Amino acid sequence: MSDLIRPNRRVLIFSAHAADFCSRAGGTIARFVDVGSSVHIVDFSYGELCESPALWARDPAPSVAEIKQIRAAEIQAAAAILGASAECLDFGDCPLLIGPERRQQVLDLFRQHQPDLVMSHWKDDILHPDHCEATDAVIWASRYCFRPGLAGEADLPPCPAPEVVFYETTLGTAPVARYIPSLFVDITASYERKCQALDCFAAQPGLGERYGWLARYRALEAQSTAWMQGCEYAEGFVRLGTEMAGFSGPIGFGPAPAGGRG
Ligand SMILES: [Zn+2]
Repeated sequence: MSDLIRPNRRVLIFSAHAADFCSRAGGTIARFVDVGSSVHIVDFSYGELCESPALWARDPAPSVAEIKQIRAAEIQAAAAILGASAECLDFGDCPLLIGPERRQQVLDLFRQHQPDLVMSHWKDDILHPDHCEATDAVIWASRYCFRPGLAGEADLPPCPAPEVVFYETTLGTAPVARYIPSLFVDITASYERKCQALDCFAAQPGLGERYGWLARYRALEAQSTAWMQGCEYAEGFVRLGTEMAGFSGPIGFGPAPAGGRG
């Protein structure tokens, strides 16, 4: 039984482009909000170059600045439907590049929000390098946020390391990216809201229909492998790390602190 969805969590969800968080984890975001957890979405870019097909199809095509404006409104509208807050770091896409200064920004976001759960793209989403770049930075921040140093200009103290969970690859690429979900969230109750949120992304028509197929298929896997009888729609995830079984000791790594485990 997964304890992923529970009250009072502070969830940070990272996306390389405007709509990625919604197509892969929109139903799960709504479920977090339903149980009283808070969700903040961080888009690294607006997906202005490589994930705004309907805008580039216009004749004449809008300027990049106009596209960013349109996508910004779409992100906010979708996040509002799901009950989450959202921001875009405007790092640019195609290619998305997250060097040392930008990684510091990501680390600062960890220390500012102190999430206990972070979600991002599948780490080996190799057919879309922007997605890998995003998750490289997220893993990096998750492995340094709790250590001393890297204070940067914000000078924020270290925060506890969050749980890290990866969401789906670009639809259809899972066999190449070797993405096999091992954690399912039943989104039957929030599926309509996910579809409404996806409809906000007019720059990427058809997301609702395509990711709807996936949600149905993941539900079959959830029914067959996770005893989720009655699950009609699901989102699949992969956890970074292993899980404790019957362990009630301190949360951390290394030997037990002085005084033993009690
Ligand atoms: Zn994307």
